[in-house]
Amino acid sequence: MEDCIFCKIIDGKIPSAKVYEDDNVVSFLDIMPANKGHCLVVPKKHYETLLDIPDGDLANLIKATKKITKALSLSIGNGSFNIIMNNGKIAGQLVSHAHIHIIPRFKGDRLRLTWSHKKYIDQEMKSVQEKIKKFV
Ligand code: AMP
Ligand code: ZN
Repeated sequence: MEDCIFCKIIDGKIPSAKVYEDDNVVSFLDIMPANKGHCLVVPKKHYETLLDIPDGDLANLIKATKKITKALSLSIGNGSFNIIMNNGKIAGQLVSHAHIHIIPRFKGDRLRLTWSHKKYIDQEMKSVQEKIKKFV
């Protein structure tokens, strides 16, 4: 993908602070971190969202995510972290090359990853449940 910033990082065309690389996956520090140590884990092949990633590559991606999270926890972190994946523009995906965020958490870091709670009315919850189940 010519205009993809992560493809350029993977191809070595632009620099990044890499922390891990194997045949399928690369991980580097997010340039605008939510906390220091915030890493991105990226499949080397250009897929846009989670749903585009074949199961084999997804397994490699999540295994690498666990490995890097462990390293973060043993180095600058403490075992508390958020794993986040934004999929699609409306969900806040700015770079359309699928990636997983690992954000180490520190006591008092004042990072807000909360949302307001909505409510189901009447039979809505049941109806939503049934709709989803039909496609699983
Ligand atoms: P998302 O909103 O999930 O697409 O997140 C994209 C992330 O990529 C953001 O947190 C950016 O700070 C990060 N980012 C964008 N360009 C670079 C870059 N050249 N090197 C490292 N991280 C980047
Ligand atoms: Zn790409």
